[in-house]
Amino acid sequence: MRKVALITGITGQDGAYLTRLLLGKGYVVHGIIRRASTFNTERLDDIYRDPHEPEVRLFLHYGDMSDSTVLRRVLRLANPDEVYNLAAQSHVRVSFDQPEYTADTVALGTLRLLEAVREFQQEAGKRVKFYQAGSSEMFGASPPPQNERTPFYPRSPYAVSKVAAHWFAVNYREAYGMFICNGILFNHESPLRGETFVTRKVTRAVGRIVHGLQRKLYMGNLDARRDWGYAGDYVEAMWLMLQQDEPDDYVIATGESHSVRELLDVAFGYVGLDWRDYVEQDPRYFRPTEVDHLLGDATKARKKLGWEPKVRFRELIQMMVEHDLELAARERTLREAGHTVVLPGTATP
Ligand code: NAP
Ligand code: GDP
Repeated sequence: MRKVALITGITGQDGAYLTRLLLGKGYVVHGIIRRASTFNTERLDDIYRDPHEPEVRLFLHYGDMSDSTVLRRVLRLANPDEVYNLAAQSHVRVSFDQPEYTADTVALGTLRLLEAVREFQQEAGKRVKFYQAGSSEMFGASPPPQNERTPFYPRSPYAVSKVAAHWFAVNYREAYGMFICNGILFNHESPLRGETFVTRKVTRAVGRIVHGLQRKLYMGNLDARRDWGYAGDYVEAMWLMLQQDEPDDYVIATGESHSVRELLDVAFGYVGLDWRDYVEQDPRYFRPTEVDHLLGDATKARKKLGWEPKVRFRELIQMMVEHDLELAARERTLREAGHTVVLPGTATP
């Protein structure tokens, strides 16, 4: 019997990596996607197959974290052994513009899903394992290094909502004996990272500058420090948490932090450019309250899960720059052939 997983947020960066990992382990994977006027399954397109074909193991369902009826229906349809709750309005800066929506999808959305899973377990007479995507942003202003015992001090509507989701998850574990793990993941990146997060924004700009498609890069706070790891390594940790005998909470991090300035040094340095010739600061990218320094201590995950990061900062940024150089080369070819190439507008956060 194949194991069945249900992933919310399957179209995001982590959803794409986790889906590949689980399909590789023989799982049947169900995912919830949002209806949009444009296609939003780009990160899954190379692994998605027509469900009419034989042996298909990836199924997508329309739904939204604001719609508990659909969450219940999809749970019944998928009949999962494991649920990975990755869906979120996940951008910290945007959460200041859309605080209510962020809290609705991140905090209440998690509660809706927990409640739906609780009911589904009773109906189906089976135990479902639940992964909750927590974030190092929950530590916010708590000084580094941060581990599972560090107090939360969230500094954005996104982070406050993730703290609420974390405690909903703990409460459901304690109140109903559910198998729920909170992963407290530090920033993790990849060539599939959304283009408005700082690493990808920088590596996309490097590619476009090299290919003559962009002249300037407008940025916010260059002094912030983050513990940046590779998304491919981090989804392994999610899966490992659900394979343990007992549910628990784990910090997942590399144990190394770098400033945004160092990120610029590595990314521009890789193509022999000095970022100071291209980068300008724009106040719109500052946050009303900033998180200055995140640096994780993942000792517990190493000891209990046997998990360790494989890809380090420099290698990660180089991988992303190489990917984005190729992407920009393709964009240039299209532009030379007379096609319109849409570059990220300055209106994006
Ligand atoms: P992401 O790329 O922004 O993906 C978010 C996913 O959630 C997308 O599939 C998105 O759908 C979906 N989503 C957004 N609002 C939704 C709603 N109302 N209903 C249903 N789905 C919705 O994020 P990620 O980097 O993969 O991160 C995965 C999870 O881990 C998130 O919960 C994030 O907050 C958390 N996290 C991420 C990091 C990190 O560094 N990446 C660190 C710690 C925690 P669309 O594709 O349609 O937008
Ligand atoms: P976060 O840690 O979840 O907020 O991930 P981000 O990648 O969005 O931001 C990481 C850090 O980079 C934060 O401290 C931001 O303030 C900083 N930063 C500086 N300039 C920018 C920018 O132009 N865009 C983004 N997204 N972040 C920036």
